[in-house]
Amino acid sequence: DMKAGVSGEQIRPDRLAEALERLKETVGPSGWSTHPGLLEPHVVDWTGVMRGSSPLLLKPARTEEVATIVSICREYGLKIVPQGGNTSLVGGAVPSGKGVEILVNLARMNKVRAVDTINDTMTVDAGCLLASIQAEAEKNERLFPLRLASEGNCQIGGNLASNAGGSNVLRYGNTRDLVLGLEVVLADGRIWNGMRGLRKDNMGYDLKQLFIGSEGTLGIITGAVLKLFARPASVATAVCAVPSVKAALDLLALCKQRTGGQVTAFELMPGTGLELVLKHFPACRLPLERLCEWQVLIEFSSSDETASQQERMTAVLAEAYEAGLVSDAVVSASLSQSRSFWALREGLAEADMMEGPTIQGDIAVPISSIPDFLEICSAAISQAVKGARIIAFGHLGDGNIHFGIIQPADVLPKDFLARSDEIHGIINHNTLRFGGTVSAEHGLGTLKAGAVLKYRGEVEQDLMLAIKHSLDPSGMMNPGKVLEAGRRQLQE
Ligand code: FAD
Repeated sequence: DMKAGVSGEQIRPDRLAEALERLKETVGPSGWSTHPGLLEPHVVDWTGVMRGSSPLLLKPARTEEVATIVSICREYGLKIVPQGGNTSLVGGAVPSGKGVEILVNLARMNKVRAVDTINDTMTVDAGCLLASIQAEAEKNERLFPLRLASEGNCQIGGNLASNAGGSNVLRYGNTRDLVLGLEVVLADGRIWNGMRGLRKDNMGYDLKQLFIGSEGTLGIITGAVLKLFARPASVATAVCAVPSVKAALDLLALCKQRTGGQVTAFELMPGTGLELVLKHFPACRLPLERLCEWQVLIEFSSSDETASQQERMTAVLAEAYEAGLVSDAVVSASLSQSRSFWALREGLAEADMMEGPTIQGDIAVPISSIPDFLEICSAAISQAVKGARIIAFGHLGDGNIHFGIIQPADVLPKDFLARSDEIHGIINHNTLRFGGTVSAEHGLGTLKAGAVLKYRGEVEQDLMLAIKHSLDPSGMMNPGKVLEAGRRQLQE
């Protein structure tokens, strides 16, 4: 009965106790916990703002156990929250309060199943840490190019479920571009084995792509076949001061032109943000003479051993300097220097949160519209919130800006956060004006669960609801996420 599932009916205490016993038996003594202290890091999100509750945390060790868990939950009308590293920035991986929610964390499913260096693939369990996958690729003289500041904590299953982006999208695409095969436990408890390492496969609909980016609302990803790439022989990183965001985009075009598409990363770093990085992370150093309004971090890489990317970078930046696109620049001379450049960029996300309550949009607009978007949206925010500090940073090369506003010094945190909807509304309005999206890489989770119904057309809503309804008719998978407002409509 679909309706019973969707509305999250009460479950009798004796039935619940019976279900919990069966779930514990499924994973064995080392695979579950009910201890509040142990559950704590799993029921609160990474930002510390969203908190849920769950009677049971399960850590299955095998795909078959995941399938049994889903079948039992289905039988008793329990909900499931799939969880990876719980680094979601939209409250995607914590219970949302819609019924009795069982946490299914994949951390114990952390084996690399196979590496094939001729096929250039790695077959993994979904609970592998992203950093371990990168290291395994490196060990095999290959590259797995997904790169995020949270790579030491997030799992590939979470990356897949949220179609994570990160800093190398410009060159290698999003997570969905890095996958050939998937294994998924469906909401009906069956296992779909789509673990094919094929670069061409047109036998019907591309089912794996449905699950990638579905944020745990259509099934639990348990395994994946990932693409491997040639490991770069030469990498160069630079930090440059640019006179404007428009100049930064001209510099991006020049870099692409001169490298034949070898630009791996092109990241925007505002002076307002770097100031906070230097304040909150005293080990960080600015390589430039002084902080300007806008800086960019650029990375070139190539697997061609004969071409020094450092020389190429220096030549491109000299040309850019002549053309007035760059006012100051430093090219890294060593790997450790390059890491210190990246520390500045990766510190931006945390430094603004350390400074005070922050409201942040994860938006994307067509790259060419970024200068106008930033100017107009910043003006609108400054007018609405007196003294607001705006920190707009991120993946300029692929059009994704993290548009953050820090609480003004003379406003109480609670008064600032009370205006969250209004401030998000201003960011969203201006994003959509430029043909953009209000969720570029972080997903919708609970934070933006109403966005599809609000901002996308009826046809698109209907398509999404039809997919959700057909794959998870009882609404048991990650309730309250992604299409929450739409699901209410579904019940009518
Ligand atoms: P979780 O947070 O545990 O889960 C994320 C979503 O996926 C949830 O909806 C969850 O239910 C679902 N899920 C998890 N595992 C599975 C599974 N096996 N099967 C089905 N569903 C599942 N994101 C970016 O895209 N780009 C960035 O540059 C970036 N930088 C970040 C920097 C920091 C410091 C932090 C804290 C986060 C950042 N993120 C970024 C967000 C986050 O790290 C990514 O979204 C990451 O991919 C989440 O992985 P996770 O394992 O922590 O997933």
